[in-house]
Amino acid sequence: MRILPVSSPEDPAIAEAAAILAAGHLVAFPTETVYGLGADGLNPEAVARIYAAKGRPATNPVILHVADAASAQPLVSHWTPQAQALAERFWPGPLTLVLPASALVPAIVRAGGPSVALRCPSHPVALALIRALGRPLAAPSANRSQHLSPTTAEHVASSLGEAVDLILDGGPTTAGLESTILDLSGQSPRILRPGPIPPAELGEILGPVEVWAGSVGTDETQAAPGMLARHYAPKARLELVAPGTGVRKAHGRMVYVALGALPRLPDGVFGLLLPLEAEVVAMRLYALLHELDDAGYEVIFMEQPPETEAWLAVRDRLRRASTQEHP
Ligand code: AMP
Ligand code: MG
Repeated sequence: MRILPVSSPEDPAIAEAAAILAAGHLVAFPTETVYGLGADGLNPEAVARIYAAKGRPATNPVILHVADAASAQPLVSHWTPQAQALAERFWPGPLTLVLPASALVPAIVRAGGPSVALRCPSHPVALALIRALGRPLAAPSANRSQHLSPTTAEHVASSLGEAVDLILDGGPTTAGLESTILDLSGQSPRILRPGPIPPAELGEILGPVEVWAGSVGTDETQAAPGMLARHYAPKARLELVAPGTGVRKAHGRMVYVALGALPRLPDGVFGLLLPLEAEVVAMRLYALLHELDDAGYEVIFMEQPPETEAWLAVRDRLRRASTQEHP
């Protein structure tokens, strides 16, 4: 595995990465959400390498990344006016659209299902890589399945090691959480995974939009493909607590992550303060959990964010990260 820094879309490292992808191998690259593990999305053997490298269940489909809406159209059986309006407004950006797939999309990309998930990322390195390959880039997050998503090249290297051929290092990602996934393949639009684009912004184009209960509730596991109750999890046990609760006594190596104000904590409990701002917490959450894991904390207490829509995506990830059972 090699790591090459990339500073601009003209960087020669991008042509090198595209050649590796064209040969059916894997390249990790930065997007504005998290680092992706890319393979030629029209080559089933290459996509199979993603599943092997991540230890990803075959039931969990992958997102195809495209350079623009025009390149998305041949991949779906029916490109709707709704999809066009959403793409015009939110692409390039952190919105994934699920639509009925065309015959071009290999079964392994769809996990055997009838639909395909499509996104046009806004990161200049990701866009340059897709253009250099000239084909859709299949790319889930560049981590072992059920582990924390990577927001830096170092996170990718420590999670995937030799399973990835090349990592393009474009520095830390900015949105910090995975894309919003919007399912347009059913009767009415439905958010399958909350993300950086909030429901209200989608509503400006779609009218009121349903947020699938499994993405915000507590007990549904897999009513949408690949949506595991436990996901995005650190090695430490993560416990969500009511704001201001604090902890009474230290047991083992504990850290308390407060939002907005740090309560009094007993000796031996390390306190960390994050601002009560959803976008800042979204951007820093995974990097923070990675650091706390690396520092060897056994228990992370984190204050439950407010129940408002602005915090929807952060609440979703925290709930999944704190779910103990592995379904
Ligand atoms: P990630 O590992 O962040 O790229 O996650 C990709 C997620 O997108 C999967 O876990 C699925 O939940 C979702 N997804 C991908 N393809 C589809 C699809 N065809 N239909 C519904 N959800 C999908
Ligand atoms: Mg993932």
